[in-house]
Amino acid sequence: MTETALYPSFSRADLAFERGEGVWLTTASGERYLDMMAGIAVNALGHCHPHLVAALTEQAEKLWHVSNIFAAPHQEKLARRLVETSFADRVFFTNSGAEALECAIKTARRRQFVEGRPERYRLVTFEGAFHGRTLATIAAGGQEKYIEGFGPKVEGFDKVDGFDEAKVRAAIGPETAGILIEPIQGEGGVRPVPPAFLAFLRRVCDEEGLSLVFDEVQCGMGRTGHLWAYQGVGVTPDILASAKGIGGGFPLGACLATEAAAAGMTPGTHGSTFGGSLLAMAAGNAVLDVMLEPGFLERVREAGLKLKQKLAAVVDLHPEVFQEVRGEGLMLGLKCRRPPAAMVAAMRDQHLLVVGAGDDVVRFLPALVVSDAEIDEAVARTEAAARTLLQAEKEAAA
Ligand SMILES: *Cc1c(COP(=O)(O)O)cnc(C)c1O
Repeated sequence: MTETALYPSFSRADLAFERGEGVWLTTASGERYLDMMAGIAVNALGHCHPHLVAALTEQAEKLWHVSNIFAAPHQEKLARRLVETSFADRVFFTNSGAEALECAIKTARRRQFVEGRPERYRLVTFEGAFHGRTLATIAAGGQEKYIEGFGPKVEGFDKVDGFDEAKVRAAIGPETAGILIEPIQGEGGVRPVPPAFLAFLRRVCDEEGLSLVFDEVQCGMGRTGHLWAYQGVGVTPDILASAKGIGGGFPLGACLATEAAAAGMTPGTHGSTFGGSLLAMAAGNAVLDVMLEPGFLERVREAGLKLKQKLAAVVDLHPEVFQEVRGEGLMLGLKCRRPPAAMVAAMRDQHLLVVGAGDDVVRFLPALVVSDAEIDEAVARTEAAARTLLQAEKEAAA
């Protein structure tokens, strides 16, 4: 027998949790951790938010799943709300971010197909991107370490290095169907794309008849203090992939599109067994109930600013450990002068949970309901982690 029955494909911390409430997680032995990563931007309303628990419990007693061969008033309701609060006219529900991206990629390709340009199927993508772990989305992300050993790379993604207008123009050819980008790169290290560059992409797509596809799996659903990150930037996509926070912890993703962009997704062109289950819709509607309450998103912006300013003060205090803080709303990256794994471990020793990104960033992605006192506590623990790390390094050198 092996040590674990699981695929060893994750490098897991030796730390298991049994309960959660808001931004706090508790181990079986009763130790409490301050959770500033929220399951990687998933638990947008914190752990076990009472409104979500009630909505899921109520639905669980009625009906969990039927099939997409039946009418779906439960999906209609959430889709209608997503449409009313975004650029989109149409929604397809999935169970994950990668599936939402798969739908987005298929939608962009199929649009060209039905518009009489079947040769157009390629998408322009960007260095540092992350779009998921399916065969198409690893090809779209373009990171060699995720692609290696998995056979021929899915065709049709042209990666551009940097947010460079000339390089985008050069990458567009007669086979290009669209441009795919995260308005703020998440896994790549919390790298916001300059709004002027996003506006340029919008212009190019309009000029060339391409679809602009935003991956808002991480930066969407209130994370930046706007329901959708694009709304804070003022550049509207044709297609948008959402997931992570949209279900508040329940597996849920969505692909949003304009009527024109979704024109090719006719009956039979796409499907999902689990996508849009009654439980998922109950969770999604409950998340929106809270996020659309007056003042909720303003509070996210205010909390984000407060956390950013306080982390900037920690950077000033320990410039030998930290370099800068960047990001929008409650999607913040602290650039470190140590490998992220070492920083994450030092912070975990302070019972503070964050998650690494890129080569030198730790991400703060707390639940959007985080209080000022919890922000203060997180900052104090970050500072303590830096101090402890420096002390340990000094002792090791002596
Ligand atoms: C997490 C993530 C994905 C993939 O989502 P999964 O639910 O893990 O498939 C795609 N794009 C971005 C930007 C993400 O952060």
